[in-house]
Amino acid sequence: MTSSRTIAAPPYRTIVFDCDSTLSRIEGIEELARELPQERSNEIQELTRAAMAGEIPLQDVYARRLEFIRPSAAAMAHVAGIYWDQRLPHGEHLIAALAFLGKDLRVVSGGLLPCVQPFAERLGFAADQIHAVPTRSDEQGAWLGFDEQSPLARAGGKLELLGDWHGEGDAPLALVGDGSTDLEAAPVCARFVAFMGVALRESVAQAADVVCHEQDMAALLPLLVSPEELQILEHQPEHAPLVARAQAILSKP
Ligand SMILES: [Mg+2]
Repeated sequence: MTSSRTIAAPPYRTIVFDCDSTLSRIEGIEELARELPQERSNEIQELTRAAMAGEIPLQDVYARRLEFIRPSAAAMAHVAGIYWDQRLPHGEHLIAALAFLGKDLRVVSGGLLPCVQPFAERLGFAADQIHAVPTRSDEQGAWLGFDEQSPLARAGGKLELLGDWHGEGDAPLALVGDGSTDLEAAPVCARFVAFMGVALRESVAQAADVVCHEQDMAALLPLLVSPEELQILEHQPEHAPLVARAQAILSKP
């Protein structure tokens, strides 16, 4: 965290979500690795864990994992479906409510774009709001590689992207994520919410402004909008159930 960082309560103009272990319970790369021999698959799982815990730089493991897996276009489309099946409850309702409030919504993921994009679009994000690592396939759908220039394939990449948006104006930005690459971007965020509803990462939780342990996206609503914005949503028949759900979670013993 830099000393110049401004932590601020809602409202926010821009709200950014991580994908893996945040909007969905899975880590896409692990799903892609399932068809590999067990030993290779375990190795990839361990690399992912170490990268997310901040023990190894992301760029060191990124190319290595994909060179083992070489996912086909069909395999990536399949994982897009698993993201959706394993999405957290009320994700699409949260996105709809935030869109209604006029938020600039983004998904920023170190995952592969052909996996992340169809899922995020189903959740309600527009194509230009979805940022992940582009890939190349041949006409038969065989793997040709990924965009090695993508900032999201390296450590510090989320900070770079979010820093650019932040630089566009001084409007406050909130980020929801579970990993160390999310935490890296915290210096340009008015609020960093550690989403620990899927994976509990102590190092991320301890450094976060706010921690969410609920396995329900509705619980994020009061952390991302102001009391005034909550009231606006409460008066919308379409969004009132989400507000009620958030309040029920908050008031449970
Ligand atoms: Mg994640």
